[in-house]
Amino acid sequence: MTRTVIRGGWVVSMDPRLGNLRGGEVLIDGDKIVEVGAKVNAEGAEVLDATGCIVIPGLINAHQHTWQTGLRGVAGNWTILEYFRHVHAGLATKFRPDDIYIANLVGALNQINCGTTTLVDWCHNNPTPDHTDRAIDGLIESGIRAAFFHGSPKPDPKPGEKPFWEVPHPRSEVKRLMGRRLPANKGLVTLGLAILGPHYSTYDVAVSDFKLAREFGLIASMHCAGAAAKTPDGWDRLAAEGLLGDNNNIVHGNNLSDAQLDFMLDRCVTFSLTPETEMTQGHGFAITGRLRKRGHKPSLGVDLESSISGDMFAVARMALATQRATDNDESRAVAGKLPDTSSITCREALEWITIEGARMLKMDDRIGSITPGKQADIVLVRADAINMWPVHDPVVSLVTQASIANIDTVLIAGKTKKRHGKLTVRKMEGKLSELAASGERILREMGLAAAA
Ligand SMILES: [Zn+2]
Repeated sequence: MTRTVIRGGWVVSMDPRLGNLRGGEVLIDGDKIVEVGAKVNAEGAEVLDATGCIVIPGLINAHQHTWQTGLRGVAGNWTILEYFRHVHAGLATKFRPDDIYIANLVGALNQINCGTTTLVDWCHNNPTPDHTDRAIDGLIESGIRAAFFHGSPKPDPKPGEKPFWEVPHPRSEVKRLMGRRLPANKGLVTLGLAILGPHYSTYDVAVSDFKLAREFGLIASMHCAGAAAKTPDGWDRLAAEGLLGDNNNIVHGNNLSDAQLDFMLDRCVTFSLTPETEMTQGHGFAITGRLRKRGHKPSLGVDLESSISGDMFAVARMALATQRATDNDESRAVAGKLPDTSSITCREALEWITIEGARMLKMDDRIGSITPGKQADIVLVRADAINMWPVHDPVVSLVTQASIANIDTVLIAGKTKKRHGKLTVRKMEGKLSELAASGERILREMGLAAAA
């Protein structure tokens, strides 16, 4: 196996035992990190020069509907209700398998471009197994580490058909994916379930889907926000029946009561928040502070490239600023003054987009920090750049100043996916035009023509 030493950078390991190491070294053997320190035994290893860079664990995007990449920006002026009407009940129904493929391929490549090494692809537009297979093809071809969360579409009910909220997650499809397509969940792309949950289904469907996920040992993630809940007391009933557990992930959760948050956190349910889409579409403010008051932290996601950018640093910054604003206001109201210092550190915001994403996926033994034994998912952020230099505290610089333009190098499982600011994948030619043609056709078919 190839040994590589990353040398000359400022290592922000996100491992509390290792901390930050200025001029530190990271030794990689094959797909694994084997040593991290001031000086490692790198005899015979290839050198990856990180001079001028901050070396961080790859970012983890805990929630994105990557199938919407060809619809970039179309929902930029829509509330959540318009989004449901135009996207789920409209545009989504026009997707062919190859539309999902090209969206997932380019969307995942852009995530690598942004420094994301693990993408939770929350794919809820799988009307047929062909759509699902092409979605997975796109992820695999991109080379990203991905959790493919399989979900069902949400069209308006047709006469004679059951509405989506009365249809349980298809067991046969989960079995097929676990068997032939993503065997034993061993590769870079693994399976999870994007279920409706009680907010978007009947209680019986929710119970069936929770049991299905447990039976297959899969994470079951579900939205909780947006329009009125289909089964408002569903969470309480699921908890009472012992069905809520650490394999359950809730996305958004803005309208949960304090009591519901308490019993969910007691049962180790995780939360993935998407502050920018939550604020802009009308879910409300992210529940970051409510989780923190209970001693928990969220993971974060982009959610929708049909609405916002795919840059995870922007997502973290948005989450940090809005929660600090809320905390500052609360302090003024309660104590009549600002808090003595900021309520949340930049380090914690960086945890939200690294180790907390890993915990949500139950993959914190493999990813989320630069730790010996973990996978070599590593990003070099070019800090000696006009928008970042000088760096006095690398964590603060990352969270407050870094952007896509600074993502110099990306390694996933030890393999180089981006170097010197350029993606190293071959055959990119034609992919953007393919994506554009896909998006334009879908918009045209819905009578939503592109702007002249
Ligand atoms: Zn979502």
